[in-house]
Amino acid sequence: MKMKDVNGISPCRLCKIKATQIPGDKNSDKNRTYYVPPSVDLTSLGRSHSELMAQADRVDKASTKVEAEALSKEFGVKGRSILSEVDSLSFPQSFPIDFMHVAWENLMKTLVTLWSGDYKGLGEGTRKYHLENATWKEVGARSGASSSTIPSAFGPHIPNVSEKGSYMSADMWSFWTQFLAPVLWRDSFKDPECYDHLIDLVYLFDLCLRREISAADINTIRAGFTKWVKGYSRWVQLVFTRYDVLTQNRIYYQGNPKRLPVCTLPIHTLLYLADCIEGWGPVWCYWSYSMERFCGHLKCGGC
Ligand SMILES: [Zn+2]
Repeated sequence: MKMKDVNGISPCRLCKIKATQIPGDKNSDKNRTYYVPPSVDLTSLGRSHSELMAQADRVDKASTKVEAEALSKEFGVKGRSILSEVDSLSFPQSFPIDFMHVAWENLMKTLVTLWSGDYKGLGEGTRKYHLENATWKEVGARSGASSSTIPSAFGPHIPNVSEKGSYMSADMWSFWTQFLAPVLWRDSFKDPECYDHLIDLVYLFDLCLRREISAADINTIRAGFTKWVKGYSRWVQLVFTRYDVLTQNRIYYQGNPKRLPVCTLPIHTLLYLADCIEGWGPVWCYWSYSMERFCGHLKCGGC
């Protein structure tokens, strides 16, 4: 798609939200990452094919490299993608969100890093979401031990997450999040809201992964992720009343611009899962597992 993602001021391929760097950061010239503030109303911010192509053309037709780079950063697009030659494709609507990368490769790693370590040197702020070291080791050891009592037909072998988290594949994160985490994390957090917030996420993931998803489920997914991500809710009809207090904004961002690094693009992307499901079907219809496995097959020469 030739999008710039987190290196652009408009980092989201689906909307025109303006991202910001951390205010007052002395290294902001070097810090190229832009973050998406959580409490922005996305109504009427959607990107259209004609608009995105016009922006891509302006980048391609810029008279200097410097001008092209400035426009590219502003629009979040590096030029016209060769795929725009295919008439049946529409940008960005023909490119649904890849749940595998957003949920398993990214969001769960972010959450676990927030709980178990000092995420990007931010500390906990005003909340208590860090785990005791002994608790994290215990959760990790139990994750690893569970594999010897779970038949392999149910899912992959899970390593000790606290020691070998980097070995976790998307498939492992998926199994661990859906089936082990709700049990292993119970009573592990000092702040019970962190656990409830996790369980709400697991519930929403479960809805996204179903074989059949009703219109009512899509509404639940849309409203649920809106509450989960943002944190302004009093005037929005609630799906779950506890979203009033349980939000990523409240627990991790805490309304503090210095903590913008917790507002990653994949978290913002959760807001579009309902639209993708409405347009394309359940997330497993278009996720990357099959493509990545096929790439692996090609890489080893079909061995
Ligand atoms: Zn967006």
